[in-house]
This record gives sequence, structure tokens and C-alpha cells, in this order.
Amino acid sequence: MKPPLYTIRSLVHAYDGGPPVLAIERLSVAAGSILGLVGPNGSGKSTLLKLLAFVEKPTRGEIRFKDRPAAPFSDAVRFQVTLLTQEPYLMRRSVHANVAYGLKLRGRSRDCRPQVAAALSLVGLAAERFADRKWYQLSGGEAQRVSLAARLALQPEALLLDEPTASVDAASAELIKAAVIRARDQWGTTLVIASHDRQWLYEICDDSLHLFRGRILESGADNLLFGPWQPGPSGFWHKPLAGGGVLRVPPPPDDQAVGVLDTRAVSLTAPGAASPQGLNTLDGVVSRLVLEKNTRRIVATISVGLLALTVKLDPERLQALHLYPGKAVRIHFAPQAVAWCDPA
Ligand code: ADP
Ligand code: MG
Repeated sequence: MKPPLYTIRSLVHAYDGGPPVLAIERLSVAAGSILGLVGPNGSGKSTLLKLLAFVEKPTRGEIRFKDRPAAPFSDAVRFQVTLLTQEPYLMRRSVHANVAYGLKLRGRSRDCRPQVAAALSLVGLAAERFADRKWYQLSGGEAQRVSLAARLALQPEALLLDEPTASVDAASAELIKAAVIRARDQWGTTLVIASHDRQWLYEICDDSLHLFRGRILESGADNLLFGPWQPGPSGFWHKPLAGGGVLRVPPPPDDQAVGVLDTRAVSLTAPGAASPQGLNTLDGVVSRLVLEKNTRRIVATISVGLLALTVKLDPERLQALHLYPGKAVRIHFAPQAVAWCDPA
């Protein structure tokens, strides 16, 4: 068996002597797999990607690459991995020069026109129309695709993508998604993708990592519950929800604490079904159903007022409940299924 492409051990990262923004005890990324990174803004996704790209040195701990210690900033590893940042960075030159640049650094730029053309075509840009354009003659989506083409031209072992579709038009987003999947299928490129496009990640990822305040949440824990919390009767704390309904949780460490509700602890029934005593019972509407690639389970997103909860179901359960987007459902979970995140 191939060793994992990345192995992380006791990693801690802080910027400029500040507080730690990322702490990961152990993580491995299998070669050729697709790993999704999700989490709210500031949770450490971009930091993790920069560390995996070896363009930032971890404050403590180790990132092994192909089972060897990897020195940050060394060309030996940096030439095998490449990071696409959220804001495309293009040199003030032609599209061709931008795409050929990485090949040049790696001493592979002789007669590279065909390689550049192939990379551009992967992202839906015809070389004859685009290769000689200047950096300022591109739309935002085209610039991001040129930036991606520059990375695909390298046929990297790992392609790290930071919100690749967040600031581009819909057509560019589709082309970017198709191109990275082709890279994985053609060259076995390992993909690590930070994205708010949950549906896309559910569909393509072999694994996903939920980051919150720089830490990995338990796998499967997908629901974050934000306060403020108020003390209520019988030892529980409460939060009234928009549109009626009340969330009941165990006593939080402070009234702004963030709770994590494990998707596995949530059950769904038809509306109006009675709930066993003591459970949270919330009425909501199915807003999205997605097939999760690695488990073949259905990920249902249920809107309860302004809250969106994620539940994972077996296909049989989905059928039994006749679920479809727009359908009203009832959600049940024990207050004790909510765990508290470590304070920041
Ligand atoms: P995400 O990509 O999930 O939004 P980031 O990795 O960008 O999260 O940020 C994680 C934390 O690190 C945030 O608190 C952010 O303010 C901080 N941070 C990110 N980049 C820097 C930097 N260059 N210098 C100082 N702090 C930073
Ligand atoms: Mg980020």
C-alpha cells in the first residue's frame, strides 16, 4: 500500500507570536484522495492549506510528505504540491507567460506551448484566443482559471484549493470543478479543497474535515449551534429560535459557547410525530438532499427558521419518509447530544 501523501503530527501554528490558530494532533491524507475542509471563517482552513503547500512553516510539530520529513520552503517538496489561493495571483504578463512560469522554474519550459495549451483547455480556455492575452484582459473568473491552469500544467502530486469557486461566476465555477476532478482522475492528483460549497464537497470528497477555531471537530459532527444561551427550567439552557421552537442544551461553559450536535444523534420523522419525553423537537423543512460519495448515505439539510441542521440518512429511511426538498419534517435529538467546543 502507498504511504499517505501527508502525515501530520502534533501540529500547532501561530502567526507572529500570537495565539495558536491551528492545532492538529494527527491527520493523514491518502494519496489520490479528495479531502474537503469545512468550517466558518477564521477556523484555520487557509492556514492548513498554506502549511500543506509548505509555504508557511509550522510553529510546532511536523508535516511528513510521502512518509519523509519535509522542509518548508524547499523546492524538493514545493515542486510536488501547489496551492491555488482564493484571489488569483497573476503576473503582469501574458496568459502564456503565467501558465508557463511554473514549468520554467522547474526547468521544463522548452517547447512548452502544447503543455500550456492543454492546461488552458482543461479549464475551458482556448489557447488560440487566450494565450497571448494580457493579465488585464481577463474577467475575474477567467483569471482564476488561468491561475488554475498554471497549476495543472505542473501535473502536481497535490493540488490544494482555497475557496476556488467563491469569487467567480457560475460558469467558471463549473469549469474549475470539472478541471480539478479530471486532474485527480488522469494523474491521481491528491486534492485538498476548502470550500463553502458543501454540496460539491459532499459529492466528491472521500473525507471531510470540520475545522472550528483551529481544531478538528469529531468526524460526523456537522452542526454548530451558536448562543446566546439562557438558563431555563430543569437544568437545561435555552435559545429561542426564529419562527418558534426552542433549543435546549446542557449547561454551557459560558452563555456564548458554541455547541456541536453530532448528525448521528439526530432523527427525523413526519411532521406532528410525538417525541419521547425530554428530547428537543423542532419543526423544519427539507432544503437540500445530497448523496454523500464515500458513505452512499443521503445528507439532508433541514431548515428550522434561520438554523440549518444536517442529518445523514440511509436511502431506505429517505424512501420511507418520502423526503423531497420542500417537505415539512420534525427533528428530534437529546439535549445531551450537544457537546461544547473548547473555548477559543
Ligand atoms: P479560514 O481560512 O478558515 O477563514 P484562516 O486560516 O485564514 O481561516 O485564519 C485562521 C486564523 O488565523 C484567524 O483568526 C486569522 O485572523 C488568523 N490569521 C490568518 N492569517 C494570518 C496572518 N497572516 N497573520 C496573522 N493572523 C492570521
Ligand atoms: Mg480562508
